[in-house]
Amino acid sequence: MIEHLVPMSGDRPYPPRTTDFTQTFWDGLSERRFLTTVCKECGKKTFPPKPICPACMSAKVEWVELAGEGHIYSFTIIHAAPSIFSQETPYAVGIVDTVEGLRLGARLLMSPDRLRVSMPVSIARMDYEDGPYFGFVETKGDSADV
Ligand SMILES: [Zn+2]
Repeated sequence: MIEHLVPMSGDRPYPPRTTDFTQTFWDGLSERRFLTTVCKECGKKTFPPKPICPACMSAKVEWVELAGEGHIYSFTIIHAAPSIFSQETPYAVGIVDTVEGLRLGARLLMSPDRLRVSMPVSIARMDYEDGPYFGFVETKGDSADV
């Protein structure tokens, strides 16, 4: 279950183009569930969700919920954004390694001056007026700061 809900103003700058397949992911996000697919043949999880397993090419995949926990592998702060994102600058994007061993790109929603490699992060649902998106926030109570 996605615990962190982040109110966002306006519509999503770049709304997802959904298909019958990807609609399951977006419906899950609306229900505070962070979903992806797992292969029923070899057990490999992938993100983004895929109808065919990239490891063994099996079409026998099913939806599973991810923990939504991980740590920052890398990040950057965007100051000069494409015009469609200009109202959100500066903002951070990064690569997150999840506890399931997936590596995915996502928005990082904490203050840019807090960002550091290896920071523990948790999934957050960004609630735009036209629908959800996702990003990561700093995991509270599990800080590596000393
Ligand atoms: Zn497979």
